[in-house]
Amino acid sequence: MNVSVLGAGTMGHGIAQVAAMAGHDVTMRDIEQEYVENGLDAIESNLRGGVARDKVTEEEMAATLDRISVTTELEAAVSGADLVVEAVPEKMDLKQQTMREVESIVSDETVIASNTSSLSVTEIMSALERPERGVGLHFFNPVHIMALVEVVVAEQTSSETLAFARDFVEGIDKTAVEVGDSPGFASSRLGVALGVEAMRMVQEGVASPADIDAAMELGYNHPMGPVELGDVVGLDVRLGILEYLREELGERFRPPQILKRKVRAGKLGKKSGEGFYVWEDGEIVGVSEDVMDR
Ligand code: NAD
Repeated sequence: MNVSVLGAGTMGHGIAQVAAMAGHDVTMRDIEQEYVENGLDAIESNLRGGVARDKVTEEEMAATLDRISVTTELEAAVSGADLVVEAVPEKMDLKQQTMREVESIVSDETVIASNTSSLSVTEIMSALERPERGVGLHFFNPVHIMALVEVVVAEQTSSETLAFARDFVEGIDKTAVEVGDSPGFASSRLGVALGVEAMRMVQEGVASPADIDAAMELGYNHPMGPVELGDVVGLDVRLGILEYLREELGERFRPPQILKRKVRAGKLGKKSGEGFYVWEDGEIVGVSEDVMDR
């Protein structure tokens, strides 16, 4: 199958990699040559890591790279594609514009998917003249490691498009879960619900961040506790999602003061060196002092 991936960033290069590993011919497009080359370098480095860990053979690595071509031209990227997956930045205008441009080039049979993590797939696809060919394919980061893909069924998605999307996900060795086009889909909504309650518990002094995380890791077998996960994802990112979910789904997603205060202070988690924990070289070295209710 010919798969076209738009965007060679964090998600786009990962999607291109897993599609090519499954035997599809992939064209990856970004707006600057430098970005497509960075994406290609990232794929090569992932594959080298796989070879080092005996997960990928040298031959598979070479064959995968052979199946990927890159371009900055949209027309070259999508002509002849059976499936187009957009992984451009999370902006409604840009995604809709991309839909219109893609549809003016591809055939009537081409399925067009969006990797949006929070926007309404129904709204994105409303820019298409044939929106029944549109569907959400929500991959997780890092794409080559994470097994889940949420298949987001927009209002307009036809049963043929849905079946095609499910087959594609199975074919690239991922597990599909089917979700309606509701804010936060299934994964972000539940993940954020747990994360926000953990922050409230820290704020109320119920337990320390480390003890809350240990409770979920050891008591529920979560690979990472909810407070640490918030720091890893980025507290600014968490706050943005919470504000959106509050607007769409109500007060149960209201961001706690402690989170707002941390974001205002630039304590964004792992990436800034401090969030609920203190981080050094990507590792937790202590707990932030700013965890009391004030
Ligand atoms: P990113 O910023 O790493 O990559 C986006 C890329 O798209 C950039 O390289 C940019 O130059 C390129 N781009 C901009 N306009 C373009 C266009 N018109 N055509 C082609 N490429 C274009 O972003 P990302 O983290 O890969 O996110 C992409 C999408 O995936 C977003 O919708 C995001 O919400 C979603 N998503 C992200 C994650 C994550 O953990 N990062 C997880 C799931 C879904």
